[in-house]
Amino acid sequence: MEPQHSPRRSREKSRRWLLAVLPGAACVLFLLGLFPHLVPPANAQGRPDATPSSSSSAPVSSATEATAAPGISVEREPSPTPSPTPAETPWYLRLVNQDHPLPRDFTVELADIPGGRFDARAAEALSQMLSAMEAQGLSPVVCSSFRTWEDQETLHQNKIDRLLGEGYSPKEAATEASRWVVPAGASEHQLGLAVDLVSAGYQMLVEEQENTPEQQWLMENCATYGFILRYPKDKTDITGVGYEPWHYRYVGREAAQAIWEQGICLEEYEDMQ
Ligand SMILES: [Zn+2]
Repeated sequence: MEPQHSPRRSREKSRRWLLAVLPGAACVLFLLGLFPHLVPPANAQGRPDATPSSSSSAPVSSATEATAAPGISVEREPSPTPSPTPAETPWYLRLVNQDHPLPRDFTVELADIPGGRFDARAAEALSQMLSAMEAQGLSPVVCSSFRTWEDQETLHQNKIDRLLGEGYSPKEAATEASRWVVPAGASEHQLGLAVDLVSAGYQMLVEEQENTPEQQWLMENCATYGFILRYPKDKTDITGVGYEPWHYRYVGREAAQAIWEQGICLEEYEDMQ
């Protein structure tokens, strides 16, 4: 455990160490979390033993560099004519999902954050939220943040390949994969406003993540910093994405508090505007 009441400098040091070591481990588990049925339950609870020698060699990077298997048909590629964001929609409320994919040439100014990159305009809000958690003795770990088009494409294809390996038909594999790892263009991670946060003590992207003190705090307080739990358990039919008690989206404080108070999801909020 890291000291909870150490001076700021020391806490910073601890944090830097954690941030140097843990993203690699977190992302091993991120990938395992994408394919939880492939992980024996006994291992699923195990402490990650990823080599901390280089966080840049995290499996997500490896996956990114891996060559996607050719010849697999993907039925739910994003629309070639992405819906443009209405001019009056502020950047932080931009809806990205399978019905509203980003164009391939989408770009955003990014800032480095612990464990990744984030939209530069919202990075400070994320930093403040993480600092507030640490001040409470909590240990959040950024598992995934900004992803390039190619990152998302590879993750999606890997998921499809795994499902094909389990005997799914190409059509079933594409549909099921999209519930968990959306196709390139349809991920908020490409927007730079989404972050997957896990507890340092339990770095699994599984439903039980919701029971960690970090998630309990986030679900109660994230709106204060302009974030929402983007894929709630009771909104999967609207979001089209399975329950993810680790994926937080920046929408600005006003929208976040309205969404939190009304118990709605971003799609519902946008419909009300
Ligand atoms: Zn996510």
